[in-house]
Amino acid sequence: MVDETESCDSHTPGNRARLFLRELPAWSVAAGAPARHDGAMPEGDTVWNTARLLHRALAGTRLSGAELRVPALATTDLTGWQVIESVSRGKHLLLRLGAPGDDERHTLHSHLRMDGAWRTYAPGQRWTGGPGHEIRAVLRAPRAVAVGYHLHELALVPTGDEERIVGRLGPDPLGDDWDVDEVTRRLLAEPETAVGEALLDQTKLAGVGNLYRCEALFLRGLSPWTPVGEVPEPALLAALAGRLLVANRGRWTQSSTGSLRRGETTYVHGRRGRPCRRCGTPIRVAEQGERITYWCPACQPAR
Ligand SMILES: [Zn+2]
Repeated sequence: MVDETESCDSHTPGNRARLFLRELPAWSVAAGAPARHDGAMPEGDTVWNTARLLHRALAGTRLSGAELRVPALATTDLTGWQVIESVSRGKHLLLRLGAPGDDERHTLHSHLRMDGAWRTYAPGQRWTGGPGHEIRAVLRAPRAVAVGYHLHELALVPTGDEERIVGRLGPDPLGDDWDVDEVTRRLLAEPETAVGEALLDQTKLAGVGNLYRCEALFLRGLSPWTPVGEVPEPALLAALAGRLLVANRGRWTQSSTGSLRRGETTYVHGRRGRPCRRCGTPIRVAEQGERITYWCPACQPAR
């Protein structure tokens, strides 16, 4: 399935954007903020933000009500369960819970994919995240209600079994296990794979989605179809992809250019036919695997 939104862009030809990542302000996501910025893809940073949003709203409280609107969990009642913590792992959300009278912890797993979102509201506040039929989960706590829209892979598993879900993921730039050398090793293990596809392979590096894939390749001057084995200094590419995620956590607007102004946040992603910010060549778009990739044919020549 190819499903990418294009953002509107007010860029004027000849404007040379700066090729650096700006230092970011400290964590600034407020409760109630949308879990998905207009036009933004749920990549690792968005999922990380969402995990913190849920943690702030729910952690340390006991659920006073819960509805899980998927067939497999229709009869599961989490009322009275303690919310221990909310964490992310790549693009996976893990909400860890304790059942009354049960020492074993459980994890409510969810994945946002392209269209999912969690939002939090004050008790009594109107829910504005979408129509009711898109709601998959409602978790009520004393100080907030968390509502999950279009959630995927919603499942309740023993916390000890989380590895069955996330164990195959590669190092996460937003996790404790971030390891550029390990990512590089995993990338080079399949040297024939096109680098544009390899960067989206969550078993090599967890959290990178289409936006950061496209932007990292532009910033390194690499055609998305370059075989991984022919990428000069692949560790620099892995490190850059990780830095893009780290730089964007804590806010909902995703930027690789340093600008947060609408239409100025990316070099190539969402800019089909627009002039490259470095050389003016029209940005191209093509299918690669199940996604579409954006690139500048002049700045990212085929090798
Ligand atoms: Zn260019």
